Amino acid sequence: MQHYSFLSLARNALTNHQNWQAAWRSPPLKDRYDVIIIGAGGHGLATAYYLAKNHGVTNVAVLEKGWLGGGNVARNTVTIRSNYMRDESIPFYVKTVSLYDGLTKDLNYNLMYSKRSMIDVVQTYPKLREIRRRMLHMDLYGATYEPIDVAELRRRIPSLTGGGPGSRLPVIAGMVHTDAAVCRHDAVAWGYARAADDHGVEMHQNTEVRELLRDANGAICGVETNRGTVRADKVAVVVSGHTTTLTETVGLRLPLKTFNLTAFVSEPVKPLIDVVVNCPDIGVYLSQSDKGELVIGGAPDPGQSFRRDIKQNVFEDAVCAMLELFPAFRRLKLMRQWGGSLDMAHDASPIVSTTDIPGLFVSAGWWGGFKAIPAGGFTLAHLIANDEPHPLIAPFGLDRFNHLDFILESGTTIAR
Ligand SMILES: Cc1cc2nc3c(=O)[nH]c(=O)nc-3n(C[C@H](O)[C@H](O)[C@H](O)COP(=O)(O)OP(=O)(O)OC[C@H]3O[C@@H](n4cnc5c(N)ncnc54)[C@H](O)[C@@H]3O)c2cc1C
Repeated sequence: MQHYSFLSLARNALTNHQNWQAAWRSPPLKDRYDVIIIGAGGHGLATAYYLAKNHGVTNVAVLEKGWLGGGNVARNTVTIRSNYMRDESIPFYVKTVSLYDGLTKDLNYNLMYSKRSMIDVVQTYPKLREIRRRMLHMDLYGATYEPIDVAELRRRIPSLTGGGPGSRLPVIAGMVHTDAAVCRHDAVAWGYARAADDHGVEMHQNTEVRELLRDANGAICGVETNRGTVRADKVAVVVSGHTTTLTETVGLRLPLKTFNLTAFVSEPVKPLIDVVVNCPDIGVYLSQSDKGELVIGGAPDPGQSFRRDIKQNVFEDAVCAMLELFPAFRRLKLMRQWGGSLDMAHDASPIVSTTDIPGLFVSAGWWGGFKAIPAGGFTLAHLIANDEPHPLIAPFGLDRFNHLDFILESGTTIAR
């Protein structure tokens, strides 16, 4: 793999940038691999990378129906955090944040990782109680979550001028999560793809899996694609909102529903906000990108759907919520808006699991799954290589729905 550095940048500048190596190859599609990963999003690519790097499994194909990194990994609002509620979740998300901390170096790819804290703006007493409880849980695992008063909150976010004592929902407190970060989402996909390719993994774009295939004993034996049959004894479905569409081709029904989540950005403005601001009571969150655009997200559309645009009423709700707290933003022009379809399990926690079909693995239910990409890939690779779950994801198997061992995280995911 070509090493990226200041020196290589300077050297290539001398030759007009004509001699950079392609970041990954486009080899011909073989008819058999040891492992097939369906979906070249963040989770699929991270899984391929850790399979090769940590377990020496390199005869791997990642099959992608569109282009690499064109799914939700390119559509999210890039918030990375570990402020979860449950004993099962917190260690997983602490691990993912720690992997992100070293990822630029590990992948030799500038992820533009910026650790900048997240501040929860609290406007109701039930939310304050819930968030304090979360703080006590997180304390046990060394994750950072610290209360601040309203004066300190306004000092740290000067543009938050709404939510005063006479308003509909006055701001009553803040909670700071110092581990929170943002980073360039495409770079995460490209960085993992380049490093996986370096270990021999193949990525095949424009290769849509239409059906999962089983052998006479019922075990998985490959996939049917728009480019023909590809065989493997292990297949991982890592396709975000489209999980059930694929698993239903082998009669596997999963406790997942697909929803539309949306975001939009403003025109670029001078530096205004240097933290991620989350307003859970009114359902809006925002941060400012390196280009100066405000990146704004709201609550999901409550109706199930596979749409990837944004509904007018959902958009208006998020804008109105933002203007309650940031009235000066009404002068901002909005530049782009978009959505993605995400699947959510009944308990709002992810599923990383074997299935009743031998050889078939599922990684799904990644509602806020951008932050989870490194640990999600790391643990799914462990599961595929060893047929045993990594301790960090052992509680996130499909079994939990048979035993009612739900990991209820709905309060921390703006899920409905
Ligand atoms: C608007 C929005 C804001 C978000 N904000 C955040 C945030 O701030 N923080 C956070 O942590 N998370 C956030 N998320 C969630 C996060 O983006 C997803 O949970 C995460 O990206 C999902 O994992 P992925 O990257 O592997 O998915 P994807 O990138 O969607 O990868 C799945 C891939 O599978 C491919 N695929 C699907 N079907 C097939 C098939 N049949 N054959 C072959 N390939 C197939 C798709 O084309 C896609 O490329 C947000 C999501 C959205 C939509």
